Amino acid sequence: MNSRLIPATLIPGDGIGPEITAATLKVLDALGAPFEWETRAAGMAAVEKHGDPIPAETLASIRRTRLALKGPLTTPVGGGYRSVNVQLRKEFQLYANVRPARTLLPGGRYDHVDIVLVRENTEGFYVGFEHYIPMGDDPQAAAVSSGIITREGCRRVAKFAFDYALKHGRRKLTIVHKANILKALTGLFLETVREVGAKYEGRIQIEDRIIDACAMQLVLDPGRFDLILTTNLFGDILSDLIAGLVGGLGLAPGANIGREAAIFEAVHGSAPDIAGQGIANPTALMLAAAMMLEHVQRDDLARRLRQAIETTLREDGVRTRDLGGTASTIEFADAVAHHLR
Ligand code: NAD
Repeated sequence: MNSRLIPATLIPGDGIGPEITAATLKVLDALGAPFEWETRAAGMAAVEKHGDPIPAETLASIRRTRLALKGPLTTPVGGGYRSVNVQLRKEFQLYANVRPARTLLPGGRYDHVDIVLVRENTEGFYVGFEHYIPMGDDPQAAAVSSGIITREGCRRVAKFAFDYALKHGRRKLTIVHKANILKALTGLFLETVREVGAKYEGRIQIEDRIIDACAMQLVLDPGRFDLILTTNLFGDILSDLIAGLVGGLGLAPGANIGREAAIFEAVHGSAPDIAGQGIANPTALMLAAAMMLEHVQRDDLARRLRQAIETTLREDGVRTRDLGGTASTIEFADAVAHHLR
């Protein structure tokens, strides 16, 4: 084994996953990225091969490498399957979900959006504590869902977000909550993040916004936001909103960071409607790979990769169909790779 290589797990995933993964590997090869891949299955691809959407050998690989690049996974509706993505977050305590949204193409709604959203990834309403209450003849007359937020969970994601802000030159952190109504659940979040933030005083400006007002301000004036830190459900919604501000899901990468592992992915799903046609946009997964390079302290390579993607989109005008172009997935990858050789 070449000792300079970093072992990493590669999960091509479902639908367009294998196509955008192949495209991303192509540009990482051209870049000379230092990863030694262990390819493993998850999602429907794994159900077909192993009868299990998340086989033990896939978990073992991530446990060993502590680093993964993951294509989107199809979660069948019904059939007793739990979301593999949620399971991975739980298994490896991937408590911080990082989603940057930066304008790459002119001509969108806004030209200079540059926001990073950090979402608490393991708590809140996504803990899955739900049940029905029967009344009369109706066994599902009412439904109850409980959210859980712990002080420790708030502290660790807050510390992550403030440290991330310092490392990446972000000057302002906006805490997004609904502490006026969900006083205990998101009040605890607001209070704890402020406590952690006090240690960063003078280095990072802290403000807070109520989720509904924040959603409106993001649409009207996204330039006022720098780094947003919020709870699981609000983060899920706002991260798609900010992806929409910069041209949609085809351009939005995400990272799931935890103490035991870090998993990098595109924000979008497996796009079954266009799978197998070779037309998917691989940019989001390529940008996720750039975040992965930063995670392993190769900021130099991350910068080059981002630059090559930007030049391809902006100057060469090579774009996939979702962005109004005609390039296939692999043609786009070839164009990016051309700038890296
Ligand atoms: P989706 O993101 O797969 O697709 C939504 C729309 O965007 C589709 O029209 C699709 O063609 C388009 N699109 C998405 N990515 C694209 C790309 N890279 N290039 C061009 N067009 C793209 O959302 P969905 O249809 O709601 O979900 C499909 C499946 O993906 C579901 O099983 C869902 O559970 C799963 N999913 C997985 C993840 C993940 O693994 N991180 C995230 C979201 C959804």
